[in-house]
Amino acid sequence: MVVAELISPKSIGQWRTRGFLNSNEGVFCDQCSLDYKDEEYKILFKHKKIAYFLFSQEEEPDRLNILCHDCLLKNIKKIADGEELKLLILDEENEYTCKFYPEDTVDDDDEADFMDFSDFPFDSE
Ligand SMILES: [Zn+2]
Repeated sequence: MVVAELISPKSIGQWRTRGFLNSNEGVFCDQCSLDYKDEEYKILFKHKKIAYFLFSQEEEPDRLNILCHDCLLKNIKKIADGEELKLLILDEENEYTCKFYPEDTVDDDDEADFMDFSDFPFDSE
């Protein structure tokens, strides 16, 4: 099982205070450098266009990366390595258990429903 923590626009200030974000404004993906200002993120998140997560890789359990959902999915695919994988997503209030099925990585719907964790994996393209 892998665990990712959702950085919601609501909790972004807390993450920053606790030193998880290096920026005073905005958030960016450690892997693809996709970045948005707080205000932009709030809007995009609301419309389910983008989400950022804190994620640590098995090789470096002490290092937390900030990943956009696209990169998170890519990492999970790599970890899953063709196997079924459980993903636990935490936010400030809830836990979502998602299952990653390697055979079924394309969602019929567009990316608009990617936050529907019951239907993970969301569309990565
Ligand atoms: Zn990314």
